[in-house]
Amino acid sequence: MNQHDSSFAKPATSLLGTCSLVGAGPGDPELLTIKAVKAIQAATILLVDDLVSDEVLKHAQASARIVYVGKRGGCKSTPQAFIEKLMINAVNAGENLVRLKGGDPFVFGRGGEEVEHLREAGIEVKIINGITSGLAAISSLGAPLTHREHAHGVVFVTGHAKPGDQGTDWRQLAATARDAKLTLVIYMGVSGAETIQMELLTGLPADTPVAIVENASLPQQRQALTRLDSLCMTLNERGLKSPSILVVGNVIQACAQIFKTQKNDATAPTLPLHANL
Ligand code: SAH
Repeated sequence: MNQHDSSFAKPATSLLGTCSLVGAGPGDPELLTIKAVKAIQAATILLVDDLVSDEVLKHAQASARIVYVGKRGGCKSTPQAFIEKLMINAVNAGENLVRLKGGDPFVFGRGGEEVEHLREAGIEVKIINGITSGLAAISSLGAPLTHREHAHGVVFVTGHAKPGDQGTDWRQLAATARDAKLTLVIYMGVSGAETIQMELLTGLPADTPVAIVENASLPQQRQALTRLDSLCMTLNERGLKSPSILVVGNVIQACAQIFKTQKNDATAPTLPLHANL
């Protein structure tokens, strides 16, 4: 066999398409990366999660197939194993597959599991980062995640454990956050807020500032500033729901100051009455 032999030039995998795991960012289509836009434009099929805005999908070719695999329309989300099978079949059929996930694909998006299974099937996966919602949420309030005086680091943590899993040790986390001056950025924390509040209070002061940001970066974004001991009360009073990010830590102090200086601005977010910051 020489190098002009077509069977040599074309390895057995030549029929394979491509696979990219792409972060769609927190919602605002202008927060997409240029790489993400190029990948979406080149896709022949897109497998799309909930929390990916329609504006982002406008970059897709008219001929591209868009498959929603989230919980849109009140349906149950597609089982993970089925999504992975769809992905493997599409690539094996020569498609340019884009798996589009909200925020960053490797932050609580189960992107890690998908990549593992695709690699096991011999498929190479390209990862394109997106701006994770935790980052967008706090930045949208004009506050930093770290600060030389208030926070020496950040923990991205989920409030929602895998069924059967013990979940986050909030007491341990509270003690560590206090001692090491860490900001806690909690994803999927609304439904478990009662436990989170109670357990974090074992290690963090009652007046630790908390920001709740719903639909960060989207036109319908809403937010509230409160204290740790009033987290659940604020969620209930304001009717804040998923998708929301909870940010716990003294860096929130910075946005409390911003809110106070903006209080005569009609467009500025309002502080809840009990936000005694
Ligand atoms: N990969 C995503 C996270 C997926 S987990 C990322 O990097 O952002 C889903 C959770 O993310 C939601 O329950 C919510 O806590 C958070 N989330 C996603 N988009 C959000 C948004 N625009 N505003 C607030 N929270 C959001």
